[in-house]
Amino acid sequence: MSAYVGKYADELVSTAKYIGTPGKGILAADESTGTIGKRLASINVENVESNRRALRELLFTAPDALQYLSGVILFEETLYQKTASGKPFVEVLKEAGVIPGIKVDKGTVELAGTKGETTTQGFDGLAQRCRQYYDAGARFAKWRAVLKIGETEPSQLAIDENARGLARYAIVCQENGLAPIVEPEILVDGPHSIEKCAAVTEVVLSAVYKALNDHHVLLEGTLLKPNMVTPGSGAAKASPTEIAFYTVRSLKRSVPPAVPTICFLSGGQSEEEATLNLDAMNKMDSCKPWSLTFSFGRALQQSTLKAWAGKSENVEAAQKAFAERCKANSEATLGKYQGGGASADSMQSLHVKNYTY
Ligand code: 13P
Repeated sequence: MSAYVGKYADELVSTAKYIGTPGKGILAADESTGTIGKRLASINVENVESNRRALRELLFTAPDALQYLSGVILFEETLYQKTASGKPFVEVLKEAGVIPGIKVDKGTVELAGTKGETTTQGFDGLAQRCRQYYDAGARFAKWRAVLKIGETEPSQLAIDENARGLARYAIVCQENGLAPIVEPEILVDGPHSIEKCAAVTEVVLSAVYKALNDHHVLLEGTLLKPNMVTPGSGAAKASPTEIAFYTVRSLKRSVPPAVPTICFLSGGQSEEEATLNLDAMNKMDSCKPWSLTFSFGRALQQSTLKAWAGKSENVEAAQKAFAERCKANSEATLGKYQGGGASADSMQSLHVKNYTY
């Protein structure tokens, strides 16, 4: 049996390719209600619908920011929200050439008999939800699988279960017109070395691509959202050059060139670190058959949140901070980021132990 050749094949391929347009990347603004609540609590803002909507409006209407984005991942609530003046967010994004995407997983649950390893939920009604989201304007989707590094982790069970889950999710999305972001996030938590992270990343990605092929997923119509290969949060830091070397090497060993776009998560790195690491990869003189870009959540929003602090008089300053990070990451996709000039907020570590999304 061949890969998916159904009615959406051409559209899936063009969506996945467009998202990797050089100079552009993804804003992950799909924090679940619980997760956005934690972000809002950090600036003393109440987690109510009006405040969640206000934050997303601030981001989506920031002058000079959307030119650097090709996609925005939304949470279901946001997909149906509008600006204060009544314009659907989906229209605001589409008019700016930004493709709306949608998180379709329902979070993680523990795998029995493991040391806190997880599998991702969300298969109930998945096809039907994908159809509804397509009708509402979404053209790509996200499903986050989470793995951890420990003495005996990731276990074979966690690797197999999460690879199969990602593959099953991916083909259901494709059958319903959404290009799937395949996200096997290996958490940074732990004292491990960068070499260990590289080895685990290669094992996990190889299992994921075996499963995607077994499920007849059209790789040309997918995106990969991996962790960068870094030392664990409890180990000494590595330079952007080292991180770029190990990350690109692991990807070359395990991601087929048929995949058009690899968009990294930031995984608790500071805004500036995430940008410098992406830039170092794109500066490398090495054959890279995919477009390497960003799909950052925390690393695109931290200085914006701080500048906003929930106050309408701060919206302009917050939008300026957001546009600056978007521009910096756009330059990093081209290997042209000069660095420097980063604010104190953008240097702050955003690591959260055992991060949920
Ligand atoms: P971070 O960039 O904050 O790690 O999140 C991106 C994301 O979408 C995780 O699923």
